[in-house]
Amino acid sequence: MLTERKHCIWCDTPLKGRIDKKFCNDDCRGRYHNQRNSDDYHAMTAVNHVLSRNRRILASLLDPDAAAFTVHRELLLFRGFQFNYFTGAAPAPDDQVVYRCYEFSYRHLSADELELRRSGAPSTG
Ligand SMILES: [Zn+2]
Repeated sequence: MLTERKHCIWCDTPLKGRIDKKFCNDDCRGRYHNQRNSDDYHAMTAVNHVLSRNRRILASLLDPDAAAFTVHRELLLFRGFQFNYFTGAAPAPDDQVVYRCYEFSYRHLSADELELRRSGAPSTG
């Protein structure tokens, strides 16, 4: 039944008027959306922070002149690298997965070692 509703989403004041009304006034609507945008912002900021730290860690390890670099997984973990955050992943020809973190990429060579590369801009195709 569409007549169920009945309280402002923000302040819980009983609503009158249109059946699809969600807020008692524009002020409540504004506060509700501001809160929601703020929650979105904080969620995104937390993820961006992790990705940014991961990138910084990779950048600090890779010699600017080296095409590829082998690094121990433990070292990345010790520095705070979080493997469950990356900006992309793609299968490599050898059936492995190449993970991207911005302009860097890495793949597992073994359980303990990774190969780290600077990869340039990601393909948009
Ligand atoms: Zn209200």
